[in-house]
Amino acid sequence: MLAPYERLLDLVFPPRCAGCRRRTELLCAACVERCGRLRREQRPGTRRVLPQALLATVEGIHEYDAPLREAILALKYRRRRRLAEPLGMLFVAGLPEHIGGCEAVVAVPLHRTRERERGFNQSVLLAHMVARALGKPVAAGLERVRPTAQQVGLDHAARKANVRGAFAWRAGVAPRSVLLIDDVLTTGSTMRECARALRAAGVREVHGLALASGDW
Ligand SMILES: [Zn+2]
Repeated sequence: MLAPYERLLDLVFPPRCAGCRRRTELLCAACVERCGRLRREQRPGTRRVLPQALLATVEGIHEYDAPLREAILALKYRRRRRLAEPLGMLFVAGLPEHIGGCEAVVAVPLHRTRERERGFNQSVLLAHMVARALGKPVAAGLERVRPTAQQVGLDHAARKANVRGAFAWRAGVAPRSVLLIDDVLTTGSTMRECARALRAAGVREVHGLALASGDW
């Protein structure tokens, strides 16, 4: 939520929209409208819903394309933290029904070095908004136990190797079922490795859900 002085500042100096660069809001209504929702009928049986041994379901809500892509990149790489709020609202607006039974929400973790550099983990910010909307707790305990290279620019096999064994559950008893949250889903390697760590900690069912999904 914005502090009162931030609201006042926004009135005097409206921020540039991350999508269209006009001085309006962080992400203007026209750009939100343009965020292409992945059509429901595409979901079952397509590459976007991949039931498998580790993940009960894994999918993205919106197409990873302009203007959403620009907004996510601005959040992560230009550290425009306040974009987490409109992006979280987009996430919440597209929550599928089948995740309602999950006991807790877990964010895909960053390695502590990267989180320190960025100042925040965008997936944690999104996970908190999703959890609030669902009335579920955010469970902390999943950690990225070794630094990994950026997945961007790596092919499928390299992505898989890059994140293999990179995650571990470092807390007490894990929830029975988990909604795993990430900002972007591409090959699913990261989600799969997180699910592997969660399952090893005793989680029975993991549903992976990302704000955006697209080709790489
Ligand atoms: Zn815009």
